[in-house]
Amino acid sequence: MGSHGDEYSSASSVKNPTIKFTKLFINGEFVDSVSGKTFETIDPRTGEVIARIAEGDKEDIDFAVKAARHAFDHGPWPRLSGSERGRIMMKFADLLEEHAEELAALDTIDAGKLFSVGKAVDIPHAISCLRYYAGAADKVHGKVLKMSRELHGYTLLEPIGVVGHIIPWNFPTVLLFVKVSPALAAGCTMVVKPAEQTPLSALYYAHLAKLAGIPDGVLNVVTGFGPTAGAAVSSHMDIDAVSFTGSPEVGRKVMQAAAESNLKVVSLELGGKSPLIIFDDADLDMAAELAILGILFNKGEACVASSRVYVQEGIYDELVKKLVEKAKAWVVGDPFDPKVQQGPQVDRKQFERILSYIEHGKREGATLLTGGKPMAQNGYYIEPTIFADVKEEMLIAKDEIFGPVMALAKLKTIEEAIKKANSTRYGLAAGIVTKDLNVANTVSRSVRAGTIWINCYFAFDIDCPFGGYKMSGFGRDYGLEALHKYLQVKSVVTPLYNTPWL
Ligand code: NAD
Repeated sequence: MGSHGDEYSSASSVKNPTIKFTKLFINGEFVDSVSGKTFETIDPRTGEVIARIAEGDKEDIDFAVKAARHAFDHGPWPRLSGSERGRIMMKFADLLEEHAEELAALDTIDAGKLFSVGKAVDIPHAISCLRYYAGAADKVHGKVLKMSRELHGYTLLEPIGVVGHIIPWNFPTVLLFVKVSPALAAGCTMVVKPAEQTPLSALYYAHLAKLAGIPDGVLNVVTGFGPTAGAAVSSHMDIDAVSFTGSPEVGRKVMQAAAESNLKVVSLELGGKSPLIIFDDADLDMAAELAILGILFNKGEACVASSRVYVQEGIYDELVKKLVEKAKAWVVGDPFDPKVQQGPQVDRKQFERILSYIEHGKREGATLLTGGKPMAQNGYYIEPTIFADVKEEMLIAKDEIFGPVMALAKLKTIEEAIKKANSTRYGLAAGIVTKDLNVANTVSRSVRAGTIWINCYFAFDIDCPFGGYKMSGFGRDYGLEALHKYLQVKSVVTPLYNTPWL
């Protein structure tokens, strides 16, 4: 047996991880929901039920917020020194490392993510995130102000308070830690509402947080549905800030609920329809790799997926040939198999949504070059799909499909590239492939998107702020910018001398 076989057989032992945690985690305890209701979480490889999970609702969110408020107002967490919080977060990170395989397996059975990628990318990324913000926790400070009057002024940076984190299903681990880590470092307490499709790993993380020594009430996890548990977070009168990642439609609701309740601070990381622009001078093999990875990584269920690919006319035919070859050779199947490059879509709803966009593409007159159908096997598998001759007004060029569907178009000039790249209501990311610095820098400064990748794609780094322009949202995750989402600035002013102020 080759090395693939060995890995696969060792992976087989974790293919059916025991589901240890199915209840809400509130104030350091696993508890049933107040209603006693549960919901099913399914395995997208088969459509079968994996476990029944406690279904939290408004009352459960209330309990979790009370615990978080108490921990914030009276508990040690916000009062610990930054280095002490950092030390506990480092321990939390070590525990993730110890349990990496089991955690990756939970996301594989819940979200259909590749086990190998979970183990090598998602879990290590979450660990780095915890460690990055653990290291930053004791470096948070205000500044002495240069006042224009005879005053002494300085700022204090204080934790914002109780935070609500609403998480989507496509990166259940990464997107949880991207939010939880800076909030913990800032000294906040929090309620996490994972996506209903992928609750398993979040509950496990709650258990590890407790083991690491994070005090009760600091990190609460309430599983449940968006319109009930999620809405209760965004409309809660005692949550100070909500950090949301998900669709623009729901982001709008979160903002409305925040506006109509206590005007809590909102940050939104929303969808995208990110362009990848490939110029004539590009290295063709690299460009083809980036374009394929850009759309097929995580089965297209990535907010930054390069779902629109624009290719300059000089290399168009040759590049398209390479793209089609690569898409045809792309291996779709069991996400535990290390040879597999694409697992099943997260659930039936998502699977049907993607297929209906593919039908739209065909009806609208785009040329289907490859794919376009569900795979023959059970489960929510879809063929890697490429459409060419996609026009700006077509639905497949405008909407975020969130699946393995590439929309290709030809372009002539740099100006056209910029215009096409910007012809979207989104602005999350963009990719540029060229050897010419002039082209790279002109385009990167003209495309309205929060992240520009030049001759790379999915080049995430914890240190690099990430977020949207336009309808891709506002606020930044990652980097020290994210820490500031969870901090308040307080100005303190005294007269400079002992002379009476009035
Ligand atoms: P979604 O908006 O349907 O759900 C996201 C979360 O919001 C879930 O936890 C859900 O339960 C909750 N929710 C649903 N209705 C709610 C309501 N009325 N009030 C409060 N919360 C509610 O999104 P999804 O389908 O889970 O994820 C896919 C979307 O997320 C895509 O549009 C994708 O681009 C986006 N996304 C963005 C980023 C980013 O960083 N910008 C990252 C990943 C995913």
